[in-house]
Amino acid sequence: MMVDSIDSELVNMLRSRIRNIPDFPVKGIQFKDITPLLSDPHTLELTARLLRKPFNGHRVDFVVGLEARGFFFGPRLAADLMAGFVPVRKPMKLPFTTISANYDLEYGTDSLEMHADAITENSNVIIHDDLIATGGSALAATDLVERMGARVVGYSFVLGLSDLNGTIRLNKKGTIIDTLIKL
Ligand code: AMP
Repeated sequence: MMVDSIDSELVNMLRSRIRNIPDFPVKGIQFKDITPLLSDPHTLELTARLLRKPFNGHRVDFVVGLEARGFFFGPRLAADLMAGFVPVRKPMKLPFTTISANYDLEYGTDSLEMHADAITENSNVIIHDDLIATGGSALAATDLVERMGARVVGYSFVLGLSDLNGTIRLNKKGTIIDTLIKL
């Protein structure tokens, strides 16, 4: 209880380092800019430590980070958990053989790719990104991981847009869904 209330104060401190940019990259989007949080060494370190916390004591083999802002904390989270880091990227960026998954955007579709040999069968995987909105990209990454014969044991996000219900779409029994800062 004590620890939880300290954590919630710390999370409020992190929340104050998130900058809202109206109408970026297009009109109507409230872009959540985490660069102020990254540029302060204290909030940078605190974020990394709090991201690790829900997964302490769990066996994690890989952290899959989503391009591009999932690359800020993904490798640190992986190293902290003694896991490997695997980048999931936009099409045509990865040089080796890839597998890909489509997902819906507000208008049209997009796809994500992962190297076909990046994840071993039966491994335990965490999917990490800076922010969850609709959950579409995290679900596409889940598809990639499961097609490799591995399982998603957790999701990790720095920010979550509560009104878009992305985490509800990810909700699977036994899976940890950690959203550090709810907006
Ligand atoms: P979604 O697939 O709908 O959950 O969207 C999550 C992805 O889109 C993440 O990679 C985010 O970086 C990005 N994203 C979506 N909405 C925002 C927003 N309002 N501010 C910053 N990034 C966003």
